[in-house]
Amino acid sequence: MFPTDCLLCEQELEQPGGASICPACWQSLQPWLGPSCECCGLPFASLPAAESVDSLCGSCRLAEQEFDMARSYGLYTGNLRKAILHLKFHGREHLANRLGALLARAFEALPEPDSAIVAPVPLHPSRRRQRGFNQAELLARSLVRNLRREERGLQLVVNLLRRVRATLPQVGLSASARRENVRGVFSVSRPERIRNRTVVLVDDVMTTGATLSACAAALKRAGASRVLALSLARATPQFPDTVVSG
Ligand SMILES: [Zn+2]
Ligand SMILES: [Zn+2]
Repeated sequence: MFPTDCLLCEQELEQPGGASICPACWQSLQPWLGPSCECCGLPFASLPAAESVDSLCGSCRLAEQEFDMARSYGLYTGNLRKAILHLKFHGREHLANRLGALLARAFEALPEPDSAIVAPVPLHPSRRRQRGFNQAELLARSLVRNLRREERGLQLVVNLLRRVRATLPQVGLSASARRENVRGVFSVSRPERIRNRTVVLVDDVMTTGATLSACAAALKRAGASRVLALSLARATPQFPDTVVSG
């Protein structure tokens, strides 16, 4: 049942049995610790960019994002990207469990996240049926398991958000086309649950933040006091993926 080769480097695992990533590849899944946008967490390639006005990226300076803050664990490159693609296209539950531990580390960088409602970014029902699972939901479940949710007052609500219509894939669209594509797409199923609460939104990958921002707009309209966005990896043209993968 369990793979005997590492999902990332395809070398034979010394200890097969659920740990489908070898210790060396697991070590390679490092967090981004360099300079980044204070608001959306966008990694900056150079320090001068970080030292400019308020350490905000161009988009946040224009106040384009509806969430209060976003953080990602690492860059969407190399092995982290590969691991996410495995999760997304093969729905490996044990992989979600391991990656959720990384997300838990990024969670600790959020301001006062305790007692929040944790909610995954939803797929459209037709996409979900096709795929059989929602990778953001697998990650959100794993996140709260890793965070001792009872102690911290966290509440996981997997169906908090709904997609009210299907959208084009965001890949290949410009930043403004992405925003347009997801405008008004999300609705909140039970607004009374989030009134005056903090919501932590969970997704696998954040690119421009258009999807997370559209979710945040719906949550704020429904009465959430604060929306924090958490993703495993941040995709940005500043750090293109240089690893040739299959
Ligand atoms: Zn490996
Ligand atoms: Zn920013």
